[in-house]
Amino acid sequence: MANVSHELRTPVCSIKGYSETLLEGALDDKNNAKDFLKIIYSDSERLAKLIDDILDLAKIESDNLALNLKPCNVKAIIQRIVSGMNIRAKSKLLEINIKISDGLPDIMADENRIAQVLVNLFENALKYTERGGISISAKEDGDFLQIAVADTGIGIPEKDMPRLFERFYRVDKARSKELGGTGLGLSIVKHIVYAHNGKVRVQSAQGKGSIFSFSIPKA
Ligand code: ADP
Repeated sequence: MANVSHELRTPVCSIKGYSETLLEGALDDKNNAKDFLKIIYSDSERLAKLIDDILDLAKIESDNLALNLKPCNVKAIIQRIVSGMNIRAKSKLLEINIKISDGLPDIMADENRIAQVLVNLFENALKYTERGGISISAKEDGDFLQIAVADTGIGIPEKDMPRLFERFYRVDKARSKELGGTGLGLSIVKHIVYAHNGKVRVQSAQGKGSIFSFSIPKA
């Protein structure tokens, strides 16, 4: 609760402060007024995203998360997500590779929730990578399929690795905020994977890149 109220209070205070300033006269100064409105707009967007993520996480964390389990084809899900996000990758000149052989077995999963995991990991890879690219792979590992999203981005310092999946934990708070992050993406990922009886793993080298992987039972 303390974390949540702190996170919510920050954009609310900013919106309140800038609107008060506008009402007290700054509205007449056209240039400043536009800048203040831009801040109000971006903080209200941030607030909306925070509320969405907080509510979604509360739902996912509750024991009665209803998963709609069905056999799903991982390659098809990944291809759909990547084609939806390709424009953003191209605008950063990043190369996207999908390394998944055709014969892989299906997973037993809630397709929308697995898509949410992949979108979160792929969005992070995009956010924290400036050069090189992102590759997504999947392979069999006993009764599981292991899916990995690897990037050649900024990497993560060793000391931050154990806390990465905690709610609101960010390596660089200012950077995460600037990139539109809520600090909840990886918590959401962890809980969805755990609800499928899978595991999450991260390997990273600062300045070289990161690999986030997760396993999901085969169908
Ligand atoms: P955020 O909304 O801040 O991205 P997440 O929960 O998704 O929140 O991630 C938590 C933190 O982990 C991020 O703020 C960032 O510091 C770090 N992180 C996540 N993915 C990556 C990545 N692919 N490369 C480097 N750092 C990452």
